[in-house]
Amino acid sequence: MKVFKFGGASVKDAAGVRNVANVLRHFPNDDLLIVVSAMGKTTNALEEVVWGFCDGVPVAEKMEALRKSHLTVLAEAAPNDVAAAAELVLHFDRLNTFLKGKPSESVDRDYDQIVSQGEIWSTLIVSTHLKHAGLSNAWVDARTIVRTDDTYRSARVDWDLSERRAGGLLNEVPGSPKRIVTQGFIGFNAEGDTTTLGREGSDFSAAIFAYLLDAESVTIWKDVPGMFNADPKRFPDTKLLSHISYKEAIELSYFGASVIHPRTLQPLQRKNIPLYVRSFVDLAAPGSTIDDRSENDSLIPSFIIKPGQVLLSITPRDLSFIVEENLSGIFGVFAQHGVCINLMQNSAVAFTVCVDNDNRIKPLVLDLRREYEVRWNEELELVTVRHYDEVTLEKLLKGREVLIEQRSRTTARFVVK
Ligand code: ASP
Ligand code: MG
Repeated sequence: MKVFKFGGASVKDAAGVRNVANVLRHFPNDDLLIVVSAMGKTTNALEEVVWGFCDGVPVAEKMEALRKSHLTVLAEAAPNDVAAAAELVLHFDRLNTFLKGKPSESVDRDYDQIVSQGEIWSTLIVSTHLKHAGLSNAWVDARTIVRTDDTYRSARVDWDLSERRAGGLLNEVPGSPKRIVTQGFIGFNAEGDTTTLGREGSDFSAAIFAYLLDAESVTIWKDVPGMFNADPKRFPDTKLLSHISYKEAIELSYFGASVIHPRTLQPLQRKNIPLYVRSFVDLAAPGSTIDDRSENDSLIPSFIIKPGQVLLSITPRDLSFIVEENLSGIFGVFAQHGVCINLMQNSAVAFTVCVDNDNRIKPLVLDLRREYEVRWNEELELVTVRHYDEVTLEKLLKGREVLIEQRSRTTARFVVK
């Protein structure tokens, strides 16, 4: 059995939904579990609904726009399917009723109940279209399988309970080949409430299902023909990484390559399930393979640029040395503010970190300044080069001011202006 994942961009309209059927026709004999994200920018729109709901601002207009656009896609992808339209309307009605109530004491809990609906709508539409296209399938609610804790908005999977849930799943689906259409991004907790796995979490869901069902492979269908050694939108002659190891892919996504969600690889690696990244536009293109073979990892230098960085230089007020006690206190403050350190360096009297410059930084700095002098330097980029060579580095850094440079055998990192 294979797991396929289609992201929001691949199902953003009726043409996208029809293309899912087109991809599936190339796999006429395979049992498939198909994970689908919310359509296009639906998740962002639903986040707006959440903020409005919590602030007591009317959201009816936003909801009506979402209802219309989904019903339009359904009508195009499955003409005259009155039953499917009624079911979709029912889901909208339920959410609208929820939105007429009062926010609970937990914004994150409400967020998950609301935002998760995008995936419910999209999978109903895709499942219905596939039936119309002669591709029989069963719609499965991921909230009956993916059991999580109740950390709303970034729920942790309970693998044992989920595995038990997934046990009979394939046998319950009639027909041959068996096809299941289900949601990415969402799960449920002990109370039966909906949880979500964090933004862009559908890749991770595909890996979860693959793990639970011992799938032979996972394919992420994208609008790009695979994983590249750099962002093709930013660099002219990028190269396809046709075969890399789990470890290399984990490193790349950790450093900021955005092709696959960083948490996706671990469950696949644990069961040695290969991951393919392929183009849903160009089915003949070979794409990228990620598995346990590492012999190609170092063939091509990969580079990842993270913009919007700020360097914080933290010094004890009396210019005393930075020692372990200071560091443990400083890390504590970062953890408290949920600020992730992208790179760090220390000297005798200063501890310097590079972090994403977002709204968490000002309160963090205020806290640090109770004990330390903090200097900052913003509008920087963090450049990471895996398997670097001097030619690549020279090209990347030409005309840039390098503030910090760190090199290991495989990775060179630079904070540049
Ligand atoms: N729909 C969710 C999001 O946009 C999950 C995903 O697309 O992976 O974050
Ligand atoms: Mg998405």
